[in-house]
Amino acid sequence: MKEIVIASGKGGTGKTVITASLGVVAENKVLVDADVDAANLHLLVTPKIQETYTFHGGRKASIDYGKCENCGKCQEFCRFGAIYKEGEKYFIDEYACEGCGVCYLVCPQQAIKLEIEETGEFFVSSTPYGPLVHAQLGIAQENSGKLVSVVREKARELAVKEGLEYILIDGPPGIGCPVISALSGVNTALIVTEPTLSGIHDMERVIGVAHHFGVKVFLLINKFDINPKNCYQIEEFAEQNNIEVIGKIPFQEKIIDAVKQRIPPVEVMDESFKETIIETWERLREA
Ligand code: SF4
Ligand code: SF4
Repeated sequence: MKEIVIASGKGGTGKTVITASLGVVAENKVLVDADVDAANLHLLVTPKIQETYTFHGGRKASIDYGKCENCGKCQEFCRFGAIYKEGEKYFIDEYACEGCGVCYLVCPQQAIKLEIEETGEFFVSSTPYGPLVHAQLGIAQENSGKLVSVVREKARELAVKEGLEYILIDGPPGIGCPVISALSGVNTALIVTEPTLSGIHDMERVIGVAHHFGVKVFLLINKFDINPKNCYQIEEFAEQNNIEVIGKIPFQEKIIDAVKQRIPPVEVMDESFKETIIETWERLREA
């Protein structure tokens, strides 16, 4: 089984459009939406949810006021500033609490409870392009890195069960914890970038993370014609760093129309777009 992640240093490069399009041409695979903070691959592949699972991401502290004697020790030791005082009483801000458990340990009255929280759900769905594993993190919930790992694990389980050879992962943007969870242990990464200064900067950062994990990287330049000078800079960077530019896609309004209609763009685009997607998939497979 091979895992391939489609990543980008920043949002808005067209990563999900490319993942959905690869999902149409690739056979024998499980699709994964690992962008759990802002999942949107499902919008393009019309999933029907088959299985729903609860995700328990962390713990939250609360005070049992029947036992609390307002000594303030918990506030003194909470390094996340999650405990505040109003009048004589102490309160825990549930959004600021990181569940570290220090207040639980220092409270002389055993008045703190630490409870495991339900922080999201993840799903196994069927789509016209094969199974999809995707997730939804609760509002203002964190631990998305852990949820990415859980979703990937479910996809591996499914691939083994159904004898599927590839796992195609729509990765989260950025270089934080979720993207580290998405990149660690994969075989290959396709970095989708665009010729803007922020696009180049973020591309370089995510390539750094991928190389740190020893992941073979390929580049795809989306909207390559919006700035030829920056596009040249990306190609020069790729050459200097021994990274293959696997494809270049021009800016096309029709892609936006397809997204608005919730169709993977490769279904409605011209032959040249289709060829780029097919060649990209073939090259990723070979790699
Ligand atoms: S440490 Fe315990 S007893 Fe003291 S204020 Fe906090 S919860 Fe109340
Ligand atoms: S669990 Fe940690 S972060 Fe949450 S209130 Fe207690 S000390 Fe603060």
